[in-house]
Amino acid sequence: MTDGLLPAAQAEALLLHCIDYRLAEAVSHYMRGRALTGGYDVVALAGASLAAQTPEHPEWAATFWGMLDVAIRLHGIRRVLLLDHRDCGAYRLALGCDLARDHDAETAAHAHHLRRLRAEIAGRYPAISVETLLMALDGSVEIVP
Ligand SMILES: [Zn+2]
Repeated sequence: MTDGLLPAAQAEALLLHCIDYRLAEAVSHYMRGRALTGGYDVVALAGASLAAQTPEHPEWAATFWGMLDVAIRLHGIRRVLLLDHRDCGAYRLALGCDLARDHDAETAAHAHHLRRLRAEIAGRYPAISVETLLMALDGSVEIVP
């Protein structure tokens, strides 16, 4: 490189996850385990999939869609990983209840938002594949079908 410009870059995926500091290391560990380290863009918004849909904060959704568009145009990403997590404070604030007390209700709330965002991404970007994931506080990740 002699002209100061970065080489044309290619990334595999865009990761949307929550801002929650408790899971920062677990998220990095998970992405390492997926062999995606060094190959993904990141958007961190409180509530992850919820943030991209919450009517209380339309600017959060706008940020997500803007970053997704940039990641596609700039890095040619082909996959989006939507990574929600259990005991999420953003879900607690938005829904007005503590879902962490009811495992099944918590799973259902995340599944609802993850699936709805996946469908919206598919509608806007049919060539992009979307993974819907839910992380527990111990760092384990389950796939939400
Ligand atoms: Zn959270």
